[in-house]
Amino acid sequence: MVDAGHGGRDPGAVFNGRQEKDDTLRLALAVGEILQDNGIDVSYTRTTDVYETPYEKAMKANNAGVDFFLSIHRNSFPTDNEVSGVESLVYDLSGLKYQVAQDINAQLEAVGFVNLGVKARPNLVVLKRTNMPAVLVEAGFINSDTDNMLFDNNFDAIAEAIATGLLDALNAEGVIQENYYRVQVGLFRNWRYAERLRNELLEQDYPAFIDDSGPFISVQVGGYDNLSDAVAMERRLKMDGYDTLIIS
Ligand SMILES: [Zn+2]
Repeated sequence: MVDAGHGGRDPGAVFNGRQEKDDTLRLALAVGEILQDNGIDVSYTRTTDVYETPYEKAMKANNAGVDFFLSIHRNSFPTDNEVSGVESLVYDLSGLKYQVAQDINAQLEAVGFVNLGVKARPNLVVLKRTNMPAVLVEAGFINSDTDNMLFDNNFDAIAEAIATGLLDALNAEGVIQENYYRVQVGLFRNWRYAERLRNELLEQDYPAFIDDSGPFISVQVGGYDNLSDAVAMERRLKMDGYDTLIIS
């Protein structure tokens, strides 16, 4: 279950008219979509601007019997523009939740955030009252211009980082079945075009190959048995101007 922090009459932290509840909803939906694309059965505490108490959010997860609870928030500090970075909160520093929190932070650090680490917060209701492993991610400070610029300019990469951190940890811990990832660079009907792209990629030292097992001829790079390696390769391909898609 993906939880967008706050909502409705609870805006969360506010900075220059920017409301935490809006950032969290947008990011939660984006993260959920990526998880869904990777075969995870995703549900949400909210998909619109409605208020629920933290207790109601926790009960929603318990009643649905979900395996993991991921809560998305933005941080704030008493003084504006003094602190920036990401941190993740867990009930205590042990088990799967701690692994997931560390992985998410590391992925977000790669996007450009300062990594402020994982903290134990045993009194937070969504961490304390959920029956399953739960992580609360503070995706940068809403009263930091640096973090807001990162958030707005790298929104897709941030959503991907959070989803990747979660998927990697779940894969590593054997919670979900190990996947095999490849990066698709082109789909063709015509072999000649497929070969041209494959050869162009090979010349640039990409481990490219052709997969003609589907209805189209697919030019791919890979494979990788963890998503973060596939994501790193996808970033490289995108920087070289290719239109890519991670497949598993
Ligand atoms: Zn919050």
